[in-house]
Amino acid sequence: MSKTFKNFIGGQWVAPASGEYFENRNPADHADLIGQFPRSDARDVQQAVESARRGFAQWRRTPAPARGDVMRRAGDLLVKRKDEIADLMTREMGKPLTETRGDVQEGIDTAYYAATEGRRLFGHTVPSELRNKWAMSFRRPIGVAGIITPFNFPLAIPTWKIFPALLCGNAVVFKPAEDVPHTGHVFAEILLEAGVPPEVLQLVHGVGEQAGKAIVEHPDVALVSFTGSTETGKLVGETCGRMHKRLSLEMGGKNAMLVMDDADLDLALDGVLWGAFGTTGQRCTATSRLVLQKGIHDRFLSTLVDRVKKLKLGDGRKAGTDVGPMINEAAIRKTEHYVDVGQSEGADLLCGGRRATGKGLDDGWFFEPTIFARVRAGMRIEQEEIFGPVLSVVRVDDADEAFAVNNDVKYGLSSSLYTRDVNLAFRALNELDNGITYVNAPTIGAEAHLPFGGVKQTGNGHREGGWEVYDFYSETKVGYVDFSGALQRAQIDNY
Ligand code: NAD
Repeated sequence: MSKTFKNFIGGQWVAPASGEYFENRNPADHADLIGQFPRSDARDVQQAVESARRGFAQWRRTPAPARGDVMRRAGDLLVKRKDEIADLMTREMGKPLTETRGDVQEGIDTAYYAATEGRRLFGHTVPSELRNKWAMSFRRPIGVAGIITPFNFPLAIPTWKIFPALLCGNAVVFKPAEDVPHTGHVFAEILLEAGVPPEVLQLVHGVGEQAGKAIVEHPDVALVSFTGSTETGKLVGETCGRMHKRLSLEMGGKNAMLVMDDADLDLALDGVLWGAFGTTGQRCTATSRLVLQKGIHDRFLSTLVDRVKKLKLGDGRKAGTDVGPMINEAAIRKTEHYVDVGQSEGADLLCGGRRATGKGLDDGWFFEPTIFARVRAGMRIEQEEIFGPVLSVVRVDDADEAFAVNNDVKYGLSSSLYTRDVNLAFRALNELDNGITYVNAPTIGAEAHLPFGGVKQTGNGHREGGWEVYDFYSETKVGYVDFSGALQRAQIDNY
């Protein structure tokens, strides 16, 4: 018998209004049923938002340092349960344990950052242009925050959103991705144990078109933070625009690693293996394009193919696994489709390109790490997000052409440059159209205390992480206090 999980609404664990559930299975082994999770709809969301409004009324008045103490305790609990959470996360989404431990660690870092922000949340005090008058700005919480997250960082991404949302004094309605509801459940337990008051947090499981859509459309959800695909983000953005909601969108990527002739090639090889095939290519920051300068192109590519063929596919919970399964069958089919597209566009398939079979692989969603060479700028496999273990290799003459290839896509999350030329490295920071550029490191590797996000169709101008995310979850209010005892008219009596 598999376990049946519940939503957390109105301070209690409750069944969904529909009485319906969806299955959560291990992508490395279809026979392994993790549990049944609520298929919630607008009725559950209605209850959740009503409860969150009550929670907000109390939480917004809780001093920010006291809210920070709750985040610190949540961090402590994550530390204590790190290995257990990593294991259940790998079981439900597949990436190897080293990566899921890193995912939890990012949550821990985010918790401790939020805890200290409770004692900052800086405003400004500036001189008034009038005598005996003070002028200052400070931050206020906004209301009920709808939090909608993807499957690939099941803990880290919810923590990037929920810790700063709560720290700023908002109440939260959280809908985790339907492929990773177990991690969402455990995270909710931890928040409650850490001392988040019951009605301040609501956990609503379900599929995007029902539960997610209902959260976005609810008039009392004042702000929405969404991470997911650009296609879904567009729908979310249209609704929020129409309803004048505050909205943070973090969406797709088509990230490139540029390797110049003067690069440390061993370093770049390690970088591209990790960047392209870590998390089975299912990262917003995955390296999905490799741009090689002509002098090292052939040599680098042949060593890379040798190394990729040696990557060990398997269950992420087994020691020695380099690459886990993909998340589900739809992801496999999408990747297969792009392999067909690449071949019909005339790119050279150097390795992979099909489902992986064999011992330990037949019962899971495994796909062979895939490399396309002779990819030209503008081909669909060079332009579109595949979100699988597929690397498209483009050959360029020089750095300027590499920069142009990097920039000529609709996305702008991360980029990476391998070179020993310090002048070129700094020029790249200016020239590459991305939210993040790494020098001599792969396209992945964000740290919790720096702003994270992308330009163009990757985002809508907000950032997660670091100090900037606190701007999103709070409203600036200005206060003027005139203690002159007389009417002083700004811009009039002083000039
Ligand atoms: P997805 O867009 O399918 O789903 C994301 C979330 O949105 C899920 O919780 C889903 O249930 C919900 N959803 C789906 N339809 C909805 C709707 N109509 N209204 C409201 N919510 C809805 O994305 P995914 O497959 O889970 O994740 C992969 C995508 O996420 C990739 O495109 C990847 O690049 C992107 N991503 C971006 C970042 C970033 O920070 N930029 C980070 C991780 C993942």
